[in-house]
Amino acid sequence: MSALRAEGVVRRFGGLRAVDGVDLTVPSGVVTALIGPNGAGKSTLFDCLAGGRVDAGRVHLGARDVTRLPAHRRARLGLARTFQAVSVFPGLTVVDNLRVAAENRFGSSAPARLLGLPDPARGRTRDAVEAALDRLALTEHADTPAGELPAGILRMVELARALAASPSVLLLDEPASGLDDAQTERLRRELRALAADGLAILLVEHDMDLVFGVADTVHVMAAGRIVAAGTPDEIRRDARAREVYL
Ligand code: ADP
Ligand code: MG
Repeated sequence: MSALRAEGVVRRFGGLRAVDGVDLTVPSGVVTALIGPNGAGKSTLFDCLAGGRVDAGRVHLGARDVTRLPAHRRARLGLARTFQAVSVFPGLTVVDNLRVAAENRFGSSAPARLLGLPDPARGRTRDAVEAALDRLALTEHADTPAGELPAGILRMVELARALAASPSVLLLDEPASGLDDAQTERLRRELRALAADGLAILLVEHDMDLVFGVADTVHVMAAGRIVAAGTPDEIRRDARAREVYL
């Protein structure tokens, strides 16, 4: 079964159909890429999938219809995303940024806290934060305020924050922008490892070497619609994909 599925999704801004009837399936265990020119509607589609307004169509997370569920409810069901513009809290340390994300996912038991009882959510939060720091080699930066870190490291913090929520579905909006070659290669390896662990990954990215080096399936979006889909090899040779983007 697909982990995340859009069916006929439409999102309008005034008279503009930024997302114009998109069908998209994001399966578990693979990297699905979404490419296309600026203004194609990729980020708006992400918003629709993650909990923003949808004017028509349905969004399913696993077996569940989540079309009317707000972002924080979808997050608690295992959906995590990153933003095209880095959105970590600059005044918080790296570890605290991750903790906020993990607590949003697992919650913490208010009665346990008030009574000073052991809180099972706290252990899960701590484990998830440590695992995400370790996975992206950020442990040495754990206590640094995020706002003091260079752009490339911040991108990794943004990804680590999404992972700290232990998602089953991960939406990444241009995660390689601002990364140098070594960081991009690290990102590529981690995305393959996360897919091998069973995550469903949807990747919006302009770095075509990364897209064609990491994705199992590529969807091409233009003017609000998916105009081509296939394996990286198929998309490289696809006339429509070349015309609108490549
Ligand atoms: P992409 O991520 O593919 O570059 P976007 O989803 O950001 O594209 O934008 C798709 C279209 O929707 C563009 O024409 C953009 O100007 C428009 N758009 C995006 N967000 C808004 C908004 N909040 N209000 C009005 N128009 C918007
Ligand atoms: Mg965008």
